[in-house]
Amino acid sequence: MRMLSKQEAQGLLREEVLQLSPEFGACLPCAVAAKDYAPHLLVRENDVGVCIVEQFAARSGHLVVVPKQHVETMQEVPWSLYRDLQYLAWEAAVTVEKLLQPKRVFVAQLGSVKQRTTAFNHVTINIVPIYEADDRARPSHVFSWSRGVYHYEDAEADDLAERIRQAWG
Ligand SMILES: [Zn+2]
Repeated sequence: MRMLSKQEAQGLLREEVLQLSPEFGACLPCAVAAKDYAPHLLVRENDVGVCIVEQFAARSGHLVVVPKQHVETMQEVPWSLYRDLQYLAWEAAVTVEKLLQPKRVFVAQLGSVKQRTTAFNHVTINIVPIYEADDRARPSHVFSWSRGVYHYEDAEADDLAERIRQAWG
Protein backbone atom coordinates (compact mmCIF):
# COMPACT_ATOMS: atom_id res chain seq x y z
CA MET A 1 0.00 0.00 0.00
CA ARG A 2 1.36 3.40 -0.86
CA MET A 3 0.29 6.94 -0.17
CA LEU A 4 -0.83 8.98 -3.16
CA SER A 5 -1.04 12.74 -3.14
CA LYS A 6 -4.50 14.19 -3.74
CA GLN A 7 -3.44 15.13 -7.27
CA GLU A 8 -2.08 11.68 -8.06
CA ALA A 9 -5.23 10.04 -6.71
CA GLN A 10 -7.51 12.34 -8.68
CA GLY A 11 -5.50 11.66 -11.84
CA LEU A 12 -5.78 7.91 -11.38
CA LEU A 13 -9.48 8.07 -10.55
CA ARG A 14 -10.15 10.29 -13.56
CA GLU A 15 -8.59 7.66 -15.84
CA GLU A 16 -10.76 4.94 -14.32
CA VAL A 17 -13.94 6.97 -14.69
CA LEU A 18 -13.10 7.58 -18.35
CA GLN A 19 -13.06 3.82 -18.88
CA LEU A 20 -16.54 3.25 -17.46
CA SER A 21 -19.25 2.06 -19.77
CA PRO A 22 -21.41 5.03 -20.89
CA GLU A 23 -24.53 3.52 -19.30
CA PHE A 24 -23.23 4.59 -15.88
CA GLY A 25 -23.13 8.27 -16.80
CA ALA A 26 -19.63 8.63 -15.28
CA CYS A 27 -21.02 7.64 -11.88
CA LEU A 28 -18.41 5.28 -10.47
CA PRO A 29 -20.63 4.07 -7.58
CA CYS A 30 -23.27 3.01 -10.14
CA ALA A 31 -20.62 0.91 -11.91
CA VAL A 32 -19.49 -0.55 -8.58
CA ALA A 33 -23.07 -1.44 -7.63
CA ALA A 34 -23.59 -3.12 -11.02
CA LYS A 35 -20.37 -5.09 -10.40
CA ASP A 36 -18.94 -3.67 -13.58
CA TYR A 37 -16.10 -1.92 -11.74
CA ALA A 38 -13.67 -3.79 -9.45
CA PRO A 39 -15.92 -6.87 -9.00
CA HIS A 40 -12.93 -8.73 -7.48
CA LEU A 41 -13.06 -6.35 -4.52
CA LEU A 42 -16.66 -7.15 -3.66
CA VAL A 43 -16.85 -8.55 -0.16
CA ARG A 44 -20.62 -8.74 0.42
CA GLU A 45 -23.90 -8.02 -1.24
CA ASN A 46 -27.58 -7.95 -0.35
CA ASP A 47 -30.72 -7.05 -2.31
CA VAL A 48 -30.14 -3.32 -2.12
CA GLY A 49 -26.41 -2.79 -1.95
CA VAL A 50 -22.86 -4.03 -2.34
CA CYS A 51 -19.87 -3.70 -0.04
CA ILE A 52 -16.39 -3.47 -1.56
CA VAL A 53 -12.84 -2.67 -0.57
CA GLU A 54 -12.35 1.05 -1.30
CA GLN A 55 -9.34 1.36 -3.59
CA PHE A 56 -8.72 4.98 -2.66
CA ALA A 57 -8.57 4.25 1.01
CA ALA A 58 -8.61 6.70 3.89
CA ARG A 59 -7.04 3.87 5.92
CA SER A 60 -6.11 0.27 5.21
CA GLY A 61 -9.32 -1.77 5.35
CA HIS A 62 -11.62 1.09 4.28
CA LEU A 63 -14.85 -0.47 2.98
CA VAL A 64 -17.70 1.20 1.19
CA VAL A 65 -21.36 0.23 0.98
CA VAL A 66 -22.94 1.34 -2.27
CA PRO A 67 -26.70 1.31 -2.92
CA LYS A 68 -27.59 -0.43 -6.18
CA GLN A 69 -29.97 2.35 -6.99
CA HIS A 70 -28.54 5.79 -7.87
CA VAL A 71 -29.70 7.85 -4.88
CA GLU A 72 -28.41 11.30 -3.99
CA THR A 73 -30.52 12.56 -1.09
CA MET A 74 -32.02 11.13 2.07
CA GLN A 75 -35.50 11.74 0.69
CA GLU A 76 -34.71 9.27 -2.08
CA VAL A 77 -33.74 6.66 0.50
CA PRO A 78 -36.84 5.07 2.02
CA TRP A 79 -36.46 3.56 5.49
CA SER A 80 -36.43 -0.01 4.18
CA LEU A 81 -33.51 0.80 1.86
CA TYR A 82 -31.67 2.73 4.58
CA ARG A 83 -32.18 -0.13 7.05
CA ASP A 84 -30.81 -2.76 4.67
CA LEU A 85 -27.83 -0.62 3.67
CA GLN A 86 -27.04 0.13 7.30
CA TYR A 87 -27.21 -3.58 8.07
CA LEU A 88 -24.43 -4.16 5.54
CA ALA A 89 -22.46 -1.27 7.06
CA TRP A 90 -22.88 -2.68 10.55
CA GLU A 91 -21.69 -6.11 9.45
CA ALA A 92 -18.76 -4.48 7.65
CA ALA A 93 -17.76 -2.48 10.73
CA VAL A 94 -17.92 -5.51 13.01
CA THR A 95 -15.87 -7.57 10.53
CA VAL A 96 -13.20 -4.90 10.13
CA GLU A 97 -13.00 -4.45 13.90
CA LYS A 98 -12.55 -8.16 14.46
CA LEU A 99 -10.08 -8.72 11.63
CA LEU A 100 -7.91 -5.61 11.67
CA GLN A 101 -8.10 -4.64 15.36
CA PRO A 102 -8.23 -0.89 14.84
CA LYS A 103 -8.65 1.49 17.77
CA ARG A 104 -11.95 2.67 16.33
CA VAL A 105 -14.15 2.20 13.26
CA PHE A 106 -15.75 5.27 11.70
CA VAL A 107 -18.97 4.82 9.75
CA ALA A 108 -19.96 7.77 7.58
CA GLN A 109 -22.57 8.29 4.93
CA LEU A 110 -20.96 10.45 2.29
CA GLY A 111 -21.52 11.77 -1.20
CA SER A 112 -20.24 14.88 -2.89
CA VAL A 113 -22.46 17.95 -3.16
CA LYS A 114 -21.96 17.94 -6.92
CA GLN A 115 -21.16 15.19 -9.41
CA ARG A 116 -17.60 15.80 -10.68
CA THR A 117 -15.08 13.65 -12.51
CA THR A 118 -13.54 12.43 -9.28
CA ALA A 119 -16.38 12.95 -6.79
CA PHE A 120 -19.82 11.42 -6.92
CA ASN A 121 -23.13 12.49 -5.46
CA HIS A 122 -24.34 8.87 -5.30
CA VAL A 123 -24.81 8.17 -1.59
CA THR A 124 -22.21 5.80 -0.09
CA ILE A 125 -21.58 4.54 3.44
CA ASN A 126 -17.92 4.47 4.35
CA ILE A 127 -16.49 2.14 6.97
CA VAL A 128 -13.03 3.28 8.00
CA PRO A 129 -10.82 1.58 10.59
CA ILE A 130 -8.74 4.04 12.60
CA TYR A 131 -5.37 2.92 13.92
CA GLU A 132 -4.01 6.16 15.38
CA ALA A 133 -4.82 7.76 18.69
CA ASP A 134 -3.60 11.26 17.92
CA ASP A 135 -4.72 14.15 15.71
CA ARG A 136 -4.76 11.88 12.65
CA ALA A 137 -7.83 10.16 14.12
CA ARG A 138 -9.94 13.31 13.73
CA PRO A 139 -12.77 12.84 11.21
CA SER A 140 -11.75 16.01 9.36
CA HIS A 141 -8.32 14.47 8.87
CA VAL A 142 -9.56 10.98 7.99
CA PHE A 143 -12.13 12.04 5.40
CA SER A 144 -9.95 14.47 3.47
CA TRP A 145 -7.66 13.67 0.58
CA SER A 146 -5.63 16.81 1.31
CA ARG A 147 -3.01 14.85 3.25
CA GLY A 148 -3.01 12.01 0.74
CA VAL A 149 -4.90 8.79 0.21
CA TYR A 150 -3.77 5.15 0.32
CA HIS A 151 -3.77 2.92 -2.72
CA TYR A 152 -3.12 -0.84 -2.69
CA GLU A 153 -1.08 -2.89 -5.06
CA ASP A 154 -3.44 -5.23 -6.95
CA ALA A 155 -2.41 -8.37 -5.06
CA GLU A 156 -2.71 -6.55 -1.75
CA ALA A 157 -6.29 -5.46 -2.45
CA ASP A 158 -7.25 -8.97 -3.57
CA ASP A 159 -5.73 -10.45 -0.45
CA LEU A 160 -7.50 -7.97 1.82
CA ALA A 161 -10.85 -8.60 0.09
CA GLU A 162 -10.39 -12.35 0.58
CA ARG A 163 -9.51 -11.96 4.27
CA ILE A 164 -12.57 -9.78 4.81
CA ARG A 165 -14.84 -12.27 3.03
CA GLN A 166 -13.56 -15.06 5.25
CA ALA A 167 -13.80 -13.03 8.45
CA TRP A 168 -17.34 -11.90 7.58
CA GLY A 169 -18.63 -15.44 8.10
ZN1 LIG B 1 -24.72 6.52 -9.31
